[in-house]
Amino acid sequence: MGSKRLSTVRRSSCKVVVKDNLAQVLCPFCLPPHPISLAGPAACGTTVKVVAHQILYSAVPCSLCGESSGTLVRIADQYVHVKGCTPGRRLYTSPPKASKLASLAWRLPAAYHKWLRRRGKVVVELRKGAQVAGYAFDKAVPND
Ligand SMILES: [Zn+2]
Ligand SMILES: [Zn+2]
Repeated sequence: MGSKRLSTVRRSSCKVVVKDNLAQVLCPFCLPPHPISLAGPAACGTTVKVVAHQILYSAVPCSLCGESSGTLVRIADQYVHVKGCTPGRRLYTSPPKASKLASLAWRLPAAYHKWLRRRGKVVVELRKGAQVAGYAFDKAVPND
């Protein structure tokens, strides 16, 4: 009885100080604040968790499929569905390099594209707004 230790977690934004161009993350709970790292918990039990936040949108037309239902993200000045909605078309944050070979491959029959996909690759159409900006080889991803 009474031997069970209970624990919960408290969260807080980290203090970050920049020293000699290096960012140091400091424990927000201890005084004086001590450095904490991704390597493991500090003596006080505090760990750092890195979380990526992305703003999600709805009710805006997707620049790939034109539908405005579902969940979208914004890439530069365009909106695109979170889940691949248009096979063979993607909107890139950093696009793969366009190539002549890829633009030839784009026109090849479906059998070629199946063959390529089995090897983990796809040909993609690169777009700049409504314009086709070229074609490139890229890794195949699910939903493509
Ligand atoms: Zn601490
Ligand atoms: Zn879409």
